Amino acid sequence: MTNLNQQLLTIKQRMADAAIQYQRELDDITLLAVSKTKPADMIEALYHLGQRSFGENYLQEARDKQQVLSTLDIEWHFIGPIQSNKTRDIAENFAWVHSVDRLKIAKRLSQQRPDNLPPLNLCIQVNIEQETTKAGVSLDALPELIASICELPRIKLRGLMSIPAKKDSIDQQRTAFARLAQAKQAYSAVTPLDTLSMGMSEDIEAAIAEGATIIRVGSALFGARG
Ligand SMILES: *Cc1c(COP(=O)(O)O)cnc(C)c1O
Repeated sequence: MTNLNQQLLTIKQRMADAAIQYQRELDDITLLAVSKTKPADMIEALYHLGQRSFGENYLQEARDKQQVLSTLDIEWHFIGPIQSNKTRDIAENFAWVHSVDRLKIAKRLSQQRPDNLPPLNLCIQVNIEQETTKAGVSLDALPELIASICELPRIKLRGLMSIPAKKDSIDQQRTAFARLAQAKQAYSAVTPLDTLSMGMSEDIEAAIAEGATIIRVGSALFGARG
């Protein structure tokens, strides 16, 4: 068995174990393979092992790989920082965007989403711990941003995403994820949100415990990044 195959099985096992431990339906949790800095042939190998959703952070790198892999039925997710001059390429070439934290970006994505494609699935990135160095809207500013994004015709607002700081214990990890889950719950009355994009290689169990529906896994799947 290849390393990639083994690592995929290990992640699937962690997901299955966590689903049992925290009484979640495994089918409600999607594995997003975060392939930033990794070559197209690794994506293709994972694809042939059954993986369909891939996440990329850097637009040019992603576009290069998309061109090489254009015959594969991959669902591409953009999860990196978004500059406003890059929105058209994102709107035209991705099914999902997880990293929107400003209305201006969401508006451009809506305007630029091609008519022949379904509405762009979008998650709002939330800075749950108010870290000054990190992207994401604050919990305070979230209601207004949700209300505005809901009005955009070519966007389908799916939920919330976060990248909390590294923690020492699963309890601390869970506390951070629980805040995102509470925020989603609070707005579900206003607009149906079905997605919590949270959990990475080191904290997928905590994320699943708190209701993650998409976990974004890079290094545990592809190996450490250079
Ligand atoms: C790189 C990255 C990941 C994956 O992180 P790992 O720790 O390698 O699993 C997930 N989400 C985002 C937004 C990332 O940039």
